[in-house]
Amino acid sequence: MTEKLSFFQKVNTDFDKAAQFTDYPPGLLEQIKICNSSCHFTFPLKRDDGTIATLHGWRAEHSHHKLPTKGGIRYSTLVDEDEIMALAALMTYKCAIVDVPFGGAKGGIQLDRSQYSESELERITRRYTYELIQKNYIGPGVDVPAPDFGTSETEMAWIFDTYITMAPDKLNAIACVTGKPIEQNGILGRKEATGRGVVYGLEEACSIAEDMKSLGLTPGLQGKTVVVQGFGNVGYHAAKFLMESEACVIGIIEIDGAIHNPKGLDVEKVAAHRAETGSICSYPDAEHLENPNAGLELACDILVPAALENQITAENAPRIQTTLIAEAANGPTTPAADRILQERGIMVIPDTYLNAGGVTVSYFEWLRNLSHVQLGRLGKRFEDSTQHALLHAVEKATGYQFSDDERQLIHGADEEDLVNSGLQDTMIRAYHELRETRMQHKNKNDTVNCRTAAFINAIHRIAQSYMQLGIFP
Ligand code: GLU
Repeated sequence: MTEKLSFFQKVNTDFDKAAQFTDYPPGLLEQIKICNSSCHFTFPLKRDDGTIATLHGWRAEHSHHKLPTKGGIRYSTLVDEDEIMALAALMTYKCAIVDVPFGGAKGGIQLDRSQYSESELERITRRYTYELIQKNYIGPGVDVPAPDFGTSETEMAWIFDTYITMAPDKLNAIACVTGKPIEQNGILGRKEATGRGVVYGLEEACSIAEDMKSLGLTPGLQGKTVVVQGFGNVGYHAAKFLMESEACVIGIIEIDGAIHNPKGLDVEKVAAHRAETGSICSYPDAEHLENPNAGLELACDILVPAALENQITAENAPRIQTTLIAEAANGPTTPAADRILQERGIMVIPDTYLNAGGVTVSYFEWLRNLSHVQLGRLGKRFEDSTQHALLHAVEKATGYQFSDDERQLIHGADEEDLVNSGLQDTMIRAYHELRETRMQHKNKNDTVNCRTAAFINAIHRIAQSYMQLGIFP
């Protein structure tokens, strides 16, 4: 029974399923699948009240076929070695699927951040970074952390500050971590990137009329009902951008309960309510579900799990009432649930593709840091003036006068424009690669769903890197 497997074993189950559709030697497939290195460390924290706590941290580097390795750092009580290795493996596949040239890594500390003061969290983060430096698990060309569940740009700023004080190469040290605050060499659009990428991916999937027809849906996001699980950075931004794309967010699920309004929720108002009261549950304009798990079973067109792993299991999969599952979280669906959903004709857009927006924009941040120039700086004014010269020439030739509003549409791309269009292009391209692989196998073998297709693409891309390294054939 695959449900009894550990998280990492579940990821490997998905990998093995895809590997059957390739003809690489077993040794190479084993090398791709295995976690190359992982490191567990414990360290003491002198708490604000004078007592001593012992903390457990991990960093796993799953694959070094590309360097640096890349992946977030999470703070959660669920963190353990298996979870970190599984998430590091997902990073490897994710980067390969969207063609971002990194190996996969992940780190974490086992803690409930609500139990620690800000100053304790700073001391924990700095000590964790110190351990990473000592063990050579961080560096612009070695391993580059980023935010994940339970961490944000604040922790990234502490990591950067700790690293740079000890770094031999101060010039490139700014690229030792991504997801930094904008004023500390971060990049515009990184915070929103995972949620935005989810919506770009969904938009592309929903734009293909033939695929939507086979699901009994009309093309486009407009009017589609959506339930989002998790209202953290990823869930909030996915919900916000879905609303902006005129989808109708009818349910939001959090750890302490869910809210439901079939006519649609105003995502910004829900966020403001949470900021004021500490919870979404007492939001006035909605029905309140005490049991958050019941929220996953609300009827909707698109279900977006944006919280943690193992949420859709063999137990609840038969009761899920949706047509499309958009995996914004890492590992939300177990392999056994995946089979049930497939039998039920529910389409799953997999995590390894759909939530890759975060690491894609991390890649842009890392490039910006290494090149020491803001994206768009060299070309913006030039583009601006050539486009205006073109408008002027059209006016002269036609006698037509462009209005101020029309003129406003013309401007050279700035950093945020470039980040968002680079992200959109990445998501669109990877979606078509995935779909093509799925179509190639469709006639021969019906079991190749989007997840398997994405894994097949990842395996091909990683195998190619090993070829370039001379390890294979
Ligand atoms: N934590 C994010 C993820 O799971 C982003 C990782 C990164 O930017 O390196 O994809």
